[in-house]
Amino acid sequence: MTDFVRDFETGSMEEKDLLGGKGANLAEMTRLGIPVPPGFTLTTDACRHYLATGSVPDGLWDEVATHVAALEARTGRRLGDPVDPLLVSVRSGAKFSMPGMMETVLDIGLGDRSVDGLAAQIGDPRFAWDSYRRLVQMYGKTVLGLDGERFEDALDAAKAAKGVTADVDLDADDLRALVATYTAVVAEDSGAPFPQDPGEQLRGAVLAVFRSWNSDRAVLYRRRERIPADLGTAVNVQAMVFGNRGATSGSGVAFTRDPATGAPGVYGDYLQDAQGEDVVAGIRNTLTLADLERLDRPSYDELLAIMARLEGHYRDMCDIEFTIEQGRLWMLQTRVGKRTAAAAFRIAVDLVDEGVISEEEALLRVTGGQLAQLMFPHFDPTGARSLLATGMSASPGAAVGAAVFDSDTAVRMAAEGTPVILVRRETTPDDLHGMVAAAGILTSRGGKTSHAAVVARGMGRTCVCGAETLEVDTRAGLFTTHDGTVVRQGEVLSIDGSTGEVFLGEVSVRPSPVVRYFEGSASVDEGGPVVAAVDRLMSVADKHRRMQVRANADTAEDAARARRFGAEGIGLCRTEHMFLGTRRELVERLILAEGPADRQAVLDELLPLQRSDFVEIFEAMDGLPVTVRLLDPPLHEFLPDFTELSVKVAVAEATGAPHDTDSLLLLAVHRLHEENPMLGLRGVRLGIAIPGLFEMQSQAVLEAAALVNERGGHARPEIMVPLVGAVEELRAIRTEIDDAADRARRKHSVPLEHLVGTMIELPRAALTAGAIAEAADFFSFGTNDLTQTTWGFSRDDVESSFFSRYMEAGILGVSPFETIDPQGVGRLVRIGTDEGRAAKPGLKVGVCGEHGGDPESVRYFEERGLDYVSCSPFRVPVARLEAGRAVVGG
Ligand code: ADP
Ligand code: MG
Ligand code: MG
Repeated sequence: MTDFVRDFETGSMEEKDLLGGKGANLAEMTRLGIPVPPGFTLTTDACRHYLATGSVPDGLWDEVATHVAALEARTGRRLGDPVDPLLVSVRSGAKFSMPGMMETVLDIGLGDRSVDGLAAQIGDPRFAWDSYRRLVQMYGKTVLGLDGERFEDALDAAKAAKGVTADVDLDADDLRALVATYTAVVAEDSGAPFPQDPGEQLRGAVLAVFRSWNSDRAVLYRRRERIPADLGTAVNVQAMVFGNRGATSGSGVAFTRDPATGAPGVYGDYLQDAQGEDVVAGIRNTLTLADLERLDRPSYDELLAIMARLEGHYRDMCDIEFTIEQGRLWMLQTRVGKRTAAAAFRIAVDLVDEGVISEEEALLRVTGGQLAQLMFPHFDPTGARSLLATGMSASPGAAVGAAVFDSDTAVRMAAEGTPVILVRRETTPDDLHGMVAAAGILTSRGGKTSHAAVVARGMGRTCVCGAETLEVDTRAGLFTTHDGTVVRQGEVLSIDGSTGEVFLGEVSVRPSPVVRYFEGSASVDEGGPVVAAVDRLMSVADKHRRMQVRANADTAEDAARARRFGAEGIGLCRTEHMFLGTRRELVERLILAEGPADRQAVLDELLPLQRSDFVEIFEAMDGLPVTVRLLDPPLHEFLPDFTELSVKVAVAEATGAPHDTDSLLLLAVHRLHEENPMLGLRGVRLGIAIPGLFEMQSQAVLEAAALVNERGGHARPEIMVPLVGAVEELRAIRTEIDDAADRARRKHSVPLEHLVGTMIELPRAALTAGAIAEAADFFSFGTNDLTQTTWGFSRDDVESSFFSRYMEAGILGVSPFETIDPQGVGRLVRIGTDEGRAAKPGLKVGVCGEHGGDPESVRYFEERGLDYVSCSPFRVPVARLEAGRAVVGG
């Protein structure tokens, strides 16, 4: 005989792959001697066989029949019996819980004859006919695939004929008539009568559950939760128990601890004289477990003893479903319970204190994603809201402010003390000052890796991007929603970066106590139990962590914040913003410079400005390494827009106004135009094409460091050259940097350590890492550009254009810009690291792309043996936690 069916008495919780979560846990409870209605499980093997071939494995139905016979013997009831029928539920249950995604069919076994037996046994004909009615309806819909509306219409007609509006107003006779109508619908629409044979019902229900694995909503859910598509579901066939047999019966759901807050103590809902579905459906107001204690003390005591036992056994918070049938308690389900992020931290630490699990295990029970959730401010869920649109959740948090449509206004209004939401079609590097000033950023175009999203995440600014139903008119200073609502500058918006929702008006915001604690503005004690739990687990993570965590920070303010969040240095200090704003004019002059002398004059003006930027940053990071990246973006980002400038020049020509500089600038803009700027004149190429530029930057960095050291500080500059593809490029720049260092040392006569390294962000750099390492003291993988150049994906475009299609088609499970692609980009990281270190033992290797703060990617970098990850300041605690978990979890 084959082995596709297992009695609850022979399985255990270890067998989730085969029995599914529900089946394995029912078996485990049975094994523990906890009262579970008897039954058996058809394995996931049987499901996979059916899904792959379209038919069940040979012998499956015989095996089922044998188990049904055993069940009948156990219960003393027979399927289809007209006097005392056995009824069973047919319940889905996959390895990973997919609540509500698949089918469960109750009351299998009811038919024209057994319905009377049930009525007599329960002593409630109305209930028996209602159960039968539900069975025919559910069977028709899910097993036979009939149109559910036909049943709904018949039900409505029955109510209308009687002049009532609620289902409960139909009595046993009405329901009997309705069953006749329903079975007629089945016969008419399916071409065959409703099966009276309980065996046929059972087989039909089993197949329907198998098929529900591939229902649209189940497929969608799995994709979102990243559950593999090929696991299949098990099917549990279980004797029905009835919670609706009067006041001594009832059903409930319960948790061994509060799943919302994690607070100790049981928590649950109970409904007297009701079947389980009624509890969840919220038909009547439920009672609490305390009420149950009052109503049925023995059942309550037994329930609590079982819950304590389950929690001890699973060594975690459990949720359960139970039914009491005439004073007798039955457990219908248990599993390790889902919980909020706050509860996850609190429960993990409480279990350590209770001696149930170790600190290390507790660390593995929480995730960086959960910590990140705890760090965002959030909207008060009870507050009033009026939804305008929903975009992409680009950078979490809750922001409220006046709508503004250009960055200068954002800066001005913010300076006057008005919080603002910067609304743009999309943002450009020119909007940086506006984004810094804004409480939140809203765009109508672009995906999660658009400029707005990346920059906002980096700054910890709330951002909703790609809210496509909004028509943004920046010139008029307004946007229009799909239903024609017009929102003008100054009107208040609330945006939720965790859900992508955009609300009109102010929704009240709650700050995150966890952030206040990290920032040092609230003590652990003030933060309450969740903050105390975060504090505990952060120190466990730090104790085990091998990788260092640095921050991406461009300003002294960000650096200081990152340090408070536990950053052990700066892994990426970008210098491009130091060329914007009032300094833009200098950049224009640099580009227009005629000859070396002219150019040098501009560089000489830039030098002291740059130097003072770095002094502040080195002071904020005193004693810790600061990696400064030399200028990286394409030059055109610093130049005026071609069209605007053309218009300006044309107008000036027409009116005879002076326009010599503008004309020259226009020529330069024209000359510097590139079809693919991200693959053009940028990074190290700028340093080579514009002599003196990188030398000036290096000099500014190193003189700043020397100045700080002179004052008794300890600056640790690490200069990083972007977009290197060949060692020759790095060598050329390295000479300039080393010379600048020597000059700085002589000028200030202080000791000054400096390192020179390179970003590895082109496949060629990774593939020639051995050669490049000869000229580098460190490598830093720029995984954003490396992903872009490895895949040939333009990151600003692809996420909004075709990524969703790729995800739907299963080509991509997750954006490679979000989580590192281990086979491709990850392989380059491995080659780069291994070959770099082979050529230069002890070469320091880090990561400074967006992936540095992504939990899954951090684990990958730990495996690859990287020395550090660098991420935005707000992500530093997340990266610390994940780096610790990666070590403990092995
Ligand atoms: P889901 O996975 O959607 O929770 P279940 O298989 O747990 O579906 O079934 C839903 C509900 O049906 C259960 O919560 C329980 O109330 C009821 N139910 C299932 N099997 C039985 C049974 N053997 N006896 C009584 N009620 C049952
Ligand atoms: Mg359930
Ligand atoms: Mg880059």
